[in-house]
Amino acid sequence: MSGSFAQRHIGLDAAAQRTMLDALGYADVEALLTTAVPASIHVQPRPTSDIPPAATEAETLAQLRVLASQNHAARPMIGLGYYDTFTPSVITRNVLENPSWYTAYTPYQPEISQGRLEALINFQTMVTDLTGLTTANASMLDESTAVVEGMLVARRASKSRSNVFVMDADTLPQTKAVIGHRAEALGIELRYADLAHADDVGAVIGEDIFGAFVQYPGASGHIWDPSDVVTAVHAQGGVVVAAADLLALTLLRSPGSFGADVAVGTTQRFGVPMGFGGPHAGYMAVRAGLERQLPGRLVGVSKDAAGQPAYRLSLQTREQHIRREKATSNICTAQVLLAVMASMYAVYHGPAGLREIASEVAQKAEALAERLRSYGLALVSDSFFDTIRVVTPGPASRVIARARSKGYQLYEADEATVAVSVDETTTADDLAAVAWAFGLPESEELQLSFAESNAIAGVPVELNRVEEFLTHPVFNTHHSETAMMRYLKVLADRDYALDRGMIPLGSCTMKLNAATEMAAVSWPEFSRVHPFAPEADVRGYLVMIEQLERWLAEVTGYDAVSLQPNAGSQGELAGLLAIRGYHHANGETERTVCLIPSSAHGTNAASAVLAGMKVVVVACDEAGNVDLDDLRAKISAHAELLSALMITYPSTHGVYEHDVLEITQAVHDAGGQVYVDGANLNALLGYARFGDLGGDVSHLNLHKTFAIPHGGGGPGVGPVAAKAHLAPYLPGHEMQQREDHAGGVFSGGAVAGAPHGSASILPISWAYMRMMGAEGLRDATAAAVLSANYIASRLRDYYPVLYTGEGGLVAHECILDLRPLKESTGITVDDVAKRLVDYGFHSPTMSFPVAGTLMVEPTESEDLGEIDRFIEAMIAIKAEADRVAAGEWPANDNPLVNAPHTAQSVVGDEWAHPYSREIAVYPVPTLVRNKYWVPVRRIDQAHGDRNLVCSCPPIEAFA
Ligand SMILES: *Cc1c(COP(=O)(O)O)cnc(C)c1O
Repeated sequence: MSGSFAQRHIGLDAAAQRTMLDALGYADVEALLTTAVPASIHVQPRPTSDIPPAATEAETLAQLRVLASQNHAARPMIGLGYYDTFTPSVITRNVLENPSWYTAYTPYQPEISQGRLEALINFQTMVTDLTGLTTANASMLDESTAVVEGMLVARRASKSRSNVFVMDADTLPQTKAVIGHRAEALGIELRYADLAHADDVGAVIGEDIFGAFVQYPGASGHIWDPSDVVTAVHAQGGVVVAAADLLALTLLRSPGSFGADVAVGTTQRFGVPMGFGGPHAGYMAVRAGLERQLPGRLVGVSKDAAGQPAYRLSLQTREQHIRREKATSNICTAQVLLAVMASMYAVYHGPAGLREIASEVAQKAEALAERLRSYGLALVSDSFFDTIRVVTPGPASRVIARARSKGYQLYEADEATVAVSVDETTTADDLAAVAWAFGLPESEELQLSFAESNAIAGVPVELNRVEEFLTHPVFNTHHSETAMMRYLKVLADRDYALDRGMIPLGSCTMKLNAATEMAAVSWPEFSRVHPFAPEADVRGYLVMIEQLERWLAEVTGYDAVSLQPNAGSQGELAGLLAIRGYHHANGETERTVCLIPSSAHGTNAASAVLAGMKVVVVACDEAGNVDLDDLRAKISAHAELLSALMITYPSTHGVYEHDVLEITQAVHDAGGQVYVDGANLNALLGYARFGDLGGDVSHLNLHKTFAIPHGGGGPGVGPVAAKAHLAPYLPGHEMQQREDHAGGVFSGGAVAGAPHGSASILPISWAYMRMMGAEGLRDATAAAVLSANYIASRLRDYYPVLYTGEGGLVAHECILDLRPLKESTGITVDDVAKRLVDYGFHSPTMSFPVAGTLMVEPTESEDLGEIDRFIEAMIAIKAEADRVAAGEWPANDNPLVNAPHTAQSVVGDEWAHPYSREIAVYPVPTLVRNKYWVPVRRIDQAHGDRNLVCSCPPIEAFA
């Protein structure tokens, strides 16, 4: 059976399963699952399935090649925020295709994440330098959603209580669509104005606004000076948000320099392939004073226990879990891997290199413009960076068609205007071909010779950049490929990812991301594709998307799936907005209450608020289940106002709630809709379906259940799946290539800039399902549940398992209660998590959903050897804690409170601890040959964020 991928993916062979089942006292996995999954929701394998039988890895690669060949590798010059780019091969090979980077988790455990935290602080520094603002976060989901978040920052920070936000008429069309949908749900009125051409800016902006948005350069390519807009908006106490192109900013004055309060945008063209729309890292930077309003994650420099500088995430990063419905944003999974790539592009090229790339882009655009002008064609604006809009001699469609005949994709701005965007890959031949498309003679070649210039022709001198940027040594050191390769290796080696050992993070499903699944991501037929390319050029993608949607619908029991949301949080939002759309269509606009169990993930409450709903918390009972009496009471208290219940299944407590059908029925009886959070689908796939539980809509996390790697905190894909009655309200997109989606036409508003969201990583999940087949997917669930129960049963005597369901069993994860340990020994959940690093493990999820606990999720991919190694480490740690309790080691000086131990901490003549150096770093003998050396001691999380430096610290700090 060496050809079966499922056997490679699932870590447990038959002998291992036998051992584990014997430990649990079950005859076979079916018996275990039959007991664990409540009979009322248990489905039998389907006799017929849309999911084809499992293919081998070789067959799957061949099929991916066929799909790739159906994507036309055209030359996209459409622009609109997406540009072709050369990813330096050293970055492709050592980041994008390197599991040390792509299989890492979000850096919540800073000691084992110093490499990616440094890459992210480089990213933040790159963004603050180029935008001229003080603080940038570590990534946003894309430009369009970043504009929405910018608007929300403005609303929170503005002195005005107005609900009007002024939008630049020259905004990217996809951003207009996304912000329109989002603003409507929040009661924000958008007022569009032609800010670039206003004689009297004050009059155009109007009275009583809380902020304004400018696109810089505009979607049309036009560059203008927004200073007057800033003055006018500030005069009203409003906040200015500017979307700026980072490459253009190497030559243009920064948004900060003309007074913008917030800058947003995308970093895609910094070496991240277009990928048919994503994933890419969006960015946001704010001026001093707005740091607390910044959504998403923020990396800063703190200190470790030895007083050395060390990176960590700011505490506000965790705010969703703490502030829930009061959180500033629902973003959880972001775009770390892509932010790392973009930051490394800046590290590799440095300020001079970036300026040169930008200058050549500007000169290529100018050369094309000059040629067209010389033939009497008129440009809409003569002040531009990389995009020109040309008034066509005849119908615009003719120019588009001529360009297409030569393999070029241009953008039809209207019937008589065509836009062309130039990028770093554009050649003289490309420009000559485009000129021909506009009717210029074919024979004429276009010679390009680049002058060294920091100015853009046609742009007023006041807008030329004089500010320096990227002066930090990190951007001025790693410019040879050798240096770059080594820098990437040094950073990767500081981190713990799945390529070192298991990451048993409850709720996160850190399973194998197989190499075959990853293969197609970097193929040009998938990566160099523009999201607004014509249908005929992206057929391979569309076939894959349609199949993946159908397969996901089948396994979840829904009728329609949209792959647009680019994280689980966005799927939640899309699903809740669909519920809202449905109630509104039925005339039930007063239905705004969203019931959320107290155990829910923080994104649930934050998403509900962003969907314009009011959160009402439902209590959980002592067994960890939704308290049915409280649920009924809350339903009747809100009766006609009830919009939805959001419930996670199996629950975030890691158990299959027995009463789920009663719960969903009660909501339906009251006229509400049921949202099932699908993050825990790994416990259910093949055994039960959300649609059959009474769910009306769910999101899935393809970066959990369906093998997309976590990327160190993103990318993700959060498809939203719904029953037919909600399908019309699922996210659509004006610029999508397909009219008909599987199971219904989506006409809800867009929730991401690109029609298919993070399309270029969909081949991963497609390949996963293709290679597993329906049967393999079911086997994976069984193995995941078996592993979790094996761990629960073996550790139960050392750490109580907090919640269990039928037969004393858990689902795919288990919560170990460390509060009794704290009580008896003083050792905290933090101490155990950090001590696990000494044993060569990534900690399980800490204190979610219950404070003082660890939530362990082994997934199906780990083998018994690794699982036993984890169990033994946990048992050994318990024994260490017992020695503290026995007084053998003082409470303030023992291997637990001092963990983790660096190599440096155990060298030197002095060793003043009551335990040996061996116990410190080699507590079990297998570590001698396989040691992960943590680069820093425990990082201080106790002190607040006030003194965090959030850009690259001076090199001397690390001396
Ligand atoms: C991971 C998770 C989410 C959020 O998904 P993201 O992709 O991180 O936005 C929501 N709910 C639960 C239960 C989760 O575990």
